[in-house]
Amino acid sequence: MLDQRKLVVVSGPSGCGKDTVVKHLLALREDALLSVSCTTRPPRENEVYGVHYYFLGRDEFMLRVSENRMLEYTEYAGNLYGTPIDELERKLVGENIVILIIEVEGAKNVKTRYPDSLCVFIVPPSLEALRERLIMRGTESEEEIEKRLAIADRELRELNYYDYSIVNDDAVLCARRLSEIIDEWQNREEAQNDD
Ligand code: 5GP
Repeated sequence: MLDQRKLVVVSGPSGCGKDTVVKHLLALREDALLSVSCTTRPPRENEVYGVHYYFLGRDEFMLRVSENRMLEYTEYAGNLYGTPIDELERKLVGENIVILIIEVEGAKNVKTRYPDSLCVFIVPPSLEALRERLIMRGTESEEEIEKRLAIADRELRELNYYDYSIVNDDAVLCARRLSEIIDEWQNREEAQNDD
């Protein structure tokens, strides 16, 4: 049986800095492991198969969906993204907690399936800051950036589905707060289980 309390979902609009926050979190906590997702998006420069994503063709991705090998999956900005179950089962052992960095639809699906999982939303300081970060990042075309900003606008309206939200003014502080929230969540659940 999967321990739902050890599943931590982190979402936030593209460019909000959630990957950097999670990178700091992983450095802070030995018990935290990152779940690597599958995607049909082509790899960006420097992205490595099995480290950043499992890059798959659409047919292979959908085959895995039909074989019930994805915990959840969704289409985002024209590409498919999904959480492989075998990856979770392999990492969710002992005291480990597993971090899923996924978008809002995926987060809602995980929460419905695993109500005791912890869902945290990373909020950018402003939409303008988001635009600047996406431009600075330089990994998307102008059209792609506009697409992602429109999605961000929608995603920010879904904050109430999350257990916590943190404004990312500073990635290190944000990671520390996330780590505290994870501890609070584990303790809260333990306290409830003791009743
Ligand atoms: P990117 O193309 O920038 O790597 O990711 C685009 C969006 O897809 C991000 O919000 C990211 O968190 C989300 N994402 C990555 N992996 C998954 C996944 O397995 N499932 C879902 N639902 N979203 C994902």
